[in-house]
Amino acid sequence: MAESEIHYRRSRYAIISPHRYFKGSGVYRLVYLTTKPRLLALSAAAADAIEKDDCSALSAGELSYLVKIGMLIDDEKRDCEYVSGLLAEQSQMSASRTFVLMPTSLCNMECSYCGQRHCPLAYSQRVAGQAKDAVVASLGNDEVQAVDVRWYGGEPLMAYHRILELSSTFVDVARKTRTAYQSSMTTNGSLMTFERLRTLYESAMLRKICVTIDGYGKFHNKSRKMRSGRPTYQLIVNWLMEAVEHIDKIPEILIIVRINITVNNASSIMRLLHDLYHHGLSDKHILLQLIPVYNWGHDNSDLQLDSRSLNECMEDWLREAVRLGLHINMLPTAIKQPVCIATNRFATVIDSKGQLYSCSEHPLVSPYDTHEVLGYVDSQSEVFPRPLGKYDDWPTSVLSGKVPCSTCPFSRYAEVPVLNAGMREKNHVRYT
Ligand code: SF4
Repeated sequence: MAESEIHYRRSRYAIISPHRYFKGSGVYRLVYLTTKPRLLALSAAAADAIEKDDCSALSAGELSYLVKIGMLIDDEKRDCEYVSGLLAEQSQMSASRTFVLMPTSLCNMECSYCGQRHCPLAYSQRVAGQAKDAVVASLGNDEVQAVDVRWYGGEPLMAYHRILELSSTFVDVARKTRTAYQSSMTTNGSLMTFERLRTLYESAMLRKICVTIDGYGKFHNKSRKMRSGRPTYQLIVNWLMEAVEHIDKIPEILIIVRINITVNNASSIMRLLHDLYHHGLSDKHILLQLIPVYNWGHDNSDLQLDSRSLNECMEDWLREAVRLGLHINMLPTAIKQPVCIATNRFATVIDSKGQLYSCSEHPLVSPYDTHEVLGYVDSQSEVFPRPLGKYDDWPTSVLSGKVPCSTCPFSRYAEVPVLNAGMREKNHVRYT
């Protein structure tokens, strides 16, 4: 059948902007295709036609191109098949292994919205040895091409020396076995210095770090409260500046600055953006993420901005950040593979007691810390594939329409922590 005779319709993963843009004599609309992901400026006439599922208005060239990239599809199933194939592939990535290592459960901050339960536990010599053996076993497995270690909290830098000690073995074995190895860290930034960052870059192959700033100056210091009372805003900005100044020493680093948005700090975000800009943090190695606070393990609804205000503010913040030349999360530019570690049996969390979990949000959030333990790092000869976890059927749940992700065009960029009652009820997702 000729292409022009087939009845095509818009993929559910093609999102058409309601706005019109003018350039010269042309009128355009933006279309974002989440399956690629790709942003296209189509003539308003073509976008209108796609929106109405009336492809007769498209030229043969336009039709052919839009079919080729998957923006137009010819039957209901194709969207599902496309995504199911990818989801299945993602959950079977046995050549890549991911370890989320929690060398300590303790955190030196006490943020009001934190859903984690912090206890003064750290890897004992025995648990550290077992976690080390598990990572080394993956590095030594001929089928494994890449190992990714994520240092996660509490506050991982409270176990800085343990991280260096373990990393020295990991990097050494990775070099000998020619396995791709890198690490990342989620930190509150209070114990970081440029020297530590550089040491972790060189000795622990740290290539991505995520640090949180909750608004400008005193807004951050009030929200990200240190147990000791020490303010940390300027301290964090200082090591970020130093990192940018000496970026040639850590050229492959990506520093994600996460900005948690609450009703209390929303008024300071514009000032924060300007302050980061004035401190030279528009470098391409720094990526800002504006993240509204949700119910992370407990009820944070008092802190949440209503969605109308959030949308209005978000537009202003994004526009200003772009105007200043700051790098900021706008639309996803790459597909997450796998979508979330909790759906991947070749990824596991090893908490400070040596317990295995599928989801990094479980170990410190009650009651998941006790209900969702999948085993112990010392109780099995092989860590992978890890024991079945709560979310391993997520790809099939998406396909069978059992979860809201089934109809969400962004489901392939989402994480499924389902870490709190409110979110769990909806079985909803956290976008990253
Ligand atoms: S820094 Fe992170 S882990 Fe520590 S209290 Fe704050 S939100 Fe919780």
